[in-house]
Amino acid sequence: MRCPQCGRETPPGAYCGYCGARLPHEAGGDVPPVHGGRLRAHAYAADPRESLFTPALISTFFPHLSPRRANLARWLLIIGVLVALGVALGRYAPVAIVLGAVLLPVLYLLYFYDVAIYEDEPVIVLAGTFIAGAVLGAAVSLAFYRTLIGERALSLHAGSSTSFILLNAVALPLLGQLLMLVGPLALYVLRPRFSDILDGLVFGVASALGFAAAQSVVYAWLIITGPLQRGGGLFDWALPTLRVTLLTPLLYAAATGLICAALWLRRDPRIRQRPRMLATSLPFAIVVAIIGQIVPSLLTDLIPGQALSFLWYLLTAAALLLLARIGLHLGLLEKGAEADGNVDLIRCPTCQRMTPDLAFCAQCGVALRASSKRAARRLPPAAGPAAGPTEGGAQ
Ligand SMILES: [Zn+2]
Ligand SMILES: [Zn+2]
Repeated sequence: MRCPQCGRETPPGAYCGYCGARLPHEAGGDVPPVHGGRLRAHAYAADPRESLFTPALISTFFPHLSPRRANLARWLLIIGVLVALGVALGRYAPVAIVLGAVLLPVLYLLYFYDVAIYEDEPVIVLAGTFIAGAVLGAAVSLAFYRTLIGERALSLHAGSSTSFILLNAVALPLLGQLLMLVGPLALYVLRPRFSDILDGLVFGVASALGFAAAQSVVYAWLIITGPLQRGGGLFDWALPTLRVTLLTPLLYAAATGLICAALWLRRDPRIRQRPRMLATSLPFAIVVAIIGQIVPSLLTDLIPGQALSFLWYLLTAAALLLLARIGLHLGLLEKGAEADGNVDLIRCPTCQRMTPDLAFCAQCGVALRASSKRAARRLPPAAGPAAGPTEGGAQ
């Protein structure tokens, strides 16, 4: 039948195989028609159960996870944050910061393992993402933090000097953003075969999480050994701890993921080079990331107050996350438009039903390339390569 959204002939089903739009009811699907417009905002490409505009963390940064794994990841994240928060309320702030700092990277490493996309070259991918991010994050933090924390402690009541603000809120965030891109850029040059927009996003996120974690650990270490040791009320450390261990890494991940997704989209062999929408263009991603890096730290320095600072970081991280999500969604839609007419049936790793091998599952509408390689291998035959003998239910 002809898809009303993209105009291509698509096999019958609930969703168009090329653009992922919901097809009219008569086509044999059991989903009522929805007119989502060109943006197809009612069904996010990496998880069609969610709207494009839901600021959901897991389906944006962990796009390959199946619905069940996504729920598991969500719970692990919530439990981890609660534990870190509990420790922070017990005034063990440095411990809470270290716990929180390793939470997201560990989750992301589990994600790498679970979706098994880079299992044939784990060393270079890990080196180009987590390790590069962590080493550079530790280096820049060790180089600047002691001075900054010392000066902040001195100027706590006097207001910060202009040079401090320029260094802390402008120069350092920019340098940080640059360093977070080093590992992914090396992978971009060294491993052209990782050419998918999803590769770009995942590399950017992993590098940023490594960077943020190293930064937090250095920060915690300086609190323990340095001039920032102080008492404070029960809640004094809760907001800063949450900000440092959760919001800052998310902000870094969204900014770096956004830039890398836009960069990788340009090299994708399956996408015709043409003028594209603003949200997926590289200059836009760079400008947005720079603004996102500078604005919350600048506001924090200019307007004192932990709660306000928390709010700036929360709003900026949410905005960047949404932009990264929109960029990824549009990128996946563009790829779908370029898919060729191969209509072999495969089993969808997400909904487990049979679907033509196009860009989107005709049954559940998920972008098929946003699914886990390991999940695909666990499926019964007709899903490609046979499952390996070690593929037990041990995880
Ligand atoms: Zn279509
Ligand atoms: Zn499906």
